[in-house]
Amino acid sequence: HGVSRQHARFERLPDGNVLLVDKKSTNGVFCNGERVSERVLEDGDRVRLGGSTVLKFQLQDQVEEAFHQNQFDAARRDPLTGCFNKRYLLEQLDVELSFAKRHERVLTLAMLDLDHFKRVNDTHGHPAGDTVLKAVVEIVQQSIRAEDVLVRYGGEEFIVIMRETHPQQAAIVAERLRNQVQWAAIAHEGTRIPVTVSIGVAAGPSARADSPEELINLADQALYKAKRDGRNQVVVSRAR
Ligand code: GH3
Ligand code: MG
Ligand code: MG
Repeated sequence: HGVSRQHARFERLPDGNVLLVDKKSTNGVFCNGERVSERVLEDGDRVRLGGSTVLKFQLQDQVEEAFHQNQFDAARRDPLTGCFNKRYLLEQLDVELSFAKRHERVLTLAMLDLDHFKRVNDTHGHPAGDTVLKAVVEIVQQSIRAEDVLVRYGGEEFIVIMRETHPQQAAIVAERLRNQVQWAAIAHEGTRIPVTVSIGVAAGPSARADSPEELINLADQALYKAKRDGRNQVVVSRAR
């Protein structure tokens, strides 16, 4: 909140130092409490953007950096697939929905659930199931835009957050995903395992999708309809 779209820039100088630059932000850039237009940062400096976003500038060696990156990733990623986790989804959706409300943008979710996945485990074993989950994630990841966020929402349920994407566009993406999963050559230890996915698509913000939970719920209802209507299909929620 209170941060301009193009607020500030961190620039690596030829001598290795880092220069903080205010990009003509509305609410200003502050270094250790003092408003600045430009400042060469020193280890430990606190940078404030607008009213309440505070960043700490810290110099670290590569070992420290890798350690912090690992901890950061572990808190928000699912270990099996590398996707973001549910906790991250709820945090991120909160931010995305407020942004979409303020700027009158649309935000669409696609909720994917593997069809009859229990059978995959029962027939081929749990490790084979894990292989399928990872393969599906790879297919989805390659098919969505870099700014779309893929989350493992539950065991064999995934959510793609698509910014500034209308449900009709998202439905095209979802249909492509559905098709790719259906025809993918997924195999475990030499055995081909055919899988399909059902997908529910819902958009917000709206009267009926005002909070992360409500938006997820709408996508879930659409997914439920896709399951009920025979699986391996995409259903778009008409609730607005
Ligand atoms: P539906 O088409 O209605 O979605 O049927 P389904 O069998 O996919 O749904 P159900 O919810 O009955 O079963 C989900 C299965 O997903 C059961 C569970 O063992 C499996 N599963 C959940 N997480 C994992 C995982 O991490 N690895 C593996 N191998 N299986 C998992
Ligand atoms: Mg499920
Ligand atoms: Mg399932």
